[in-house]
Amino acid sequence: MNNPQPRYANDSMPCNECPAGVMHRRYIAYFTWLGEELITVPNFPAWVCDVCGKREYDGRAISMLVTLLSPEAGKPTRRVKRAPQPASRKRSVSHPPSASG
Ligand SMILES: [Zn+2]
Repeated sequence: MNNPQPRYANDSMPCNECPAGVMHRRYIAYFTWLGEELITVPNFPAWVCDVCGKREYDGRAISMLVTLLSPEAGKPTRRVKRAPQPASRKRSVSHPPSASG
């Protein structure tokens, strides 16, 4: 069976800025501001067009970075402890037929 090969592999995709460009996976430095601190992330996965030079940071990596930089991230998650509910058991008092005695 000959499945049609996808035109672009996982590490390249067509550029949306220019018609002929192909964006390749590259690892470049990523700069972002966290409050008043400049955060530098080396070897950040990005897409770089080989024709127009457009750079696009990898969306998944950005969301991961945002999660890492988020002050809420890293905090231990609180687990709500649920007290086991006591099994309500109806005590059925059986009245045995009175025997002699
Ligand atoms: Zn391009």
